[in-house]
Amino acid sequence: MIDVLVIGGGNAALCAALMAREAGASVMLLEGAPKIWRGGNSQHTRNLRCMHDAPQDVLVDAYPEEEYWQDLLKVTGGITNEKLARIVIRASSNCRDWMRCHGVHFQPSLSGALHVARTNAFFMGGGKALVNAYFRSAERLGIKIRYNAQVTDIELKGAEFVAAYIGEREVDGQRLPAERIQAKACVLAAGGFESNRAWLREAWGQNERGEWPSDNFLIRGTRFNTGVLLRRMQNLGADFIGDPTQAHMVAIDARAPLYDGGICTRIDCVSLGVVVNRDGERFYDEGEDFWPKRYAIWGRLVAGQPGQQAYSIIDQQALGRFMPPVFPGTKANSLEDLARQLKLPVTQFVKTIEQYNAACRVGTFDHTALDNCHTEGLTPAKTHWARPLVKPPFCAYPLKPGVTFTYLGLATDDTAAVHFNGEASPNLFVAGEMMAGNVLGKGYTAGIGMAIGTAFGRIAGVQAAAAAGFLTPSSTEPQHAAV
Ligand SMILES: Cc1cc2nc3c(=O)[nH]c(=O)nc-3n(C[C@H](O)[C@H](O)[C@H](O)COP(=O)(O)OP(=O)(O)OC[C@H]3O[C@@H](n4cnc5c(N)ncnc54)[C@H](O)[C@@H]3O)c2cc1C
Repeated sequence: MIDVLVIGGGNAALCAALMAREAGASVMLLEGAPKIWRGGNSQHTRNLRCMHDAPQDVLVDAYPEEEYWQDLLKVTGGITNEKLARIVIRASSNCRDWMRCHGVHFQPSLSGALHVARTNAFFMGGGKALVNAYFRSAERLGIKIRYNAQVTDIELKGAEFVAAYIGEREVDGQRLPAERIQAKACVLAAGGFESNRAWLREAWGQNERGEWPSDNFLIRGTRFNTGVLLRRMQNLGADFIGDPTQAHMVAIDARAPLYDGGICTRIDCVSLGVVVNRDGERFYDEGEDFWPKRYAIWGRLVAGQPGQQAYSIIDQQALGRFMPPVFPGTKANSLEDLARQLKLPVTQFVKTIEQYNAACRVGTFDHTALDNCHTEGLTPAKTHWARPLVKPPFCAYPLKPGVTFTYLGLATDDTAAVHFNGEASPNLFVAGEMMAGNVLGKGYTAGIGMAIGTAFGRIAGVQAAAAAGFLTPSSTEPQHAAV
């Protein structure tokens, strides 16, 4: 029998598998996706948020534990488990050497990358290179990797893991039978339910306009995170945490593909102009705070608009000040022409921009500071970087909500154990998006997704190995020593 079974093929699963193997356990990893699509949302990532008390390799200045914690506290509005959050934060300070041992390389941060040179370590080659390095290391260490292995069911004896089932499936035109795989311990790391359209519909429901908002959501990452295991664990009575409508959601280009558009579809010029809905009206302060602190609220804001649609409007003054998105914007020399091309109500659109222009009180424009360019007497206000849109050609990008990952997940503790009625399972553990809701009740701060997956993936791996009889010096206190 296998010692440790790991379900999932992203960062959290790979970290768990590698740690369990390093502890001496035999490990099998079941990736639901085919090999070509392996790596889940992790393949789309770029960086890891890291605590550090002094400059370190690719990180400048310092980002102490307390500041990291305060940042997290702010974005979550306090809906976070401090004990688990601090485990993640501390683990982020010393995991990079271990990552390097498994082939991950880091690079100095790029300018324009959400201004995170101090707080975030960037993966050389991005998340795709990271997961490829981990898969290579896993193969080298003798971890058995199975692709197209979507787990559809879990067998328990009380709170104890017994076996996982891979459903009947067709691979390369061949019908494969269902399988039952037993193991002494198991780590669940199969992502959230962001790619499950039916579940998103159920969670978001119908709005007052009779729309099903989630039907207009695009999924920024993998199509394979369908939440099959989350649902199964709900039915098996596992303890859950989080609100199913909470997710990391950004405003992305409405022309992005339904899945896997990745990072290049994000629209980063919101704070340099204005955003209108399909009625041609503004609906939120585009200059409320620095873009890195606000980009993750705009998906939800657009989701609240009619048709879940909006348009980011800029003029020539914004050019060169933001990372250009992959699709070109719609350009026009007059506001009327822009509105016509976008099929927006021309009179209302022009009125909105003219009212905004008239309300701008331009001081000293500085996009790197919370400057004094603001509006007066306008609702909603634009509190920073407000400059009249007067320099044609004007440019517009269509926006839709882009879901990154959902937060509803399994409740856990500092051992990463799955809980049933408050009682920890002796041999079933969880990591990554499947438990991120313990730390992220809402909101987001760039790079915390990979920090959670790395910390809890590693804890879950050590714990699963220990449950299978492979005690390492850190197994008794794995949550502190192992990460
Ligand atoms: C475009 C984009 C950019 C991002 N950028 C960053 C960033 O720079 N920094 C950061 O910290 N976070 C970022 N994130 C968030 C980050 O990707 C996640 O927080 C993190 O990757 C989660 O890791 P995970 O292993 O839990 O899930 P995933 O990496 O999504 O892995 C889940 C795995 O489970 C598999 N799976 C699903 N269901 C089953 C099943 N039933 N059976 C078997 N396997 C199954 C999937 O195929 C997949 O391999 C980004 C996300 C996206 C989409």
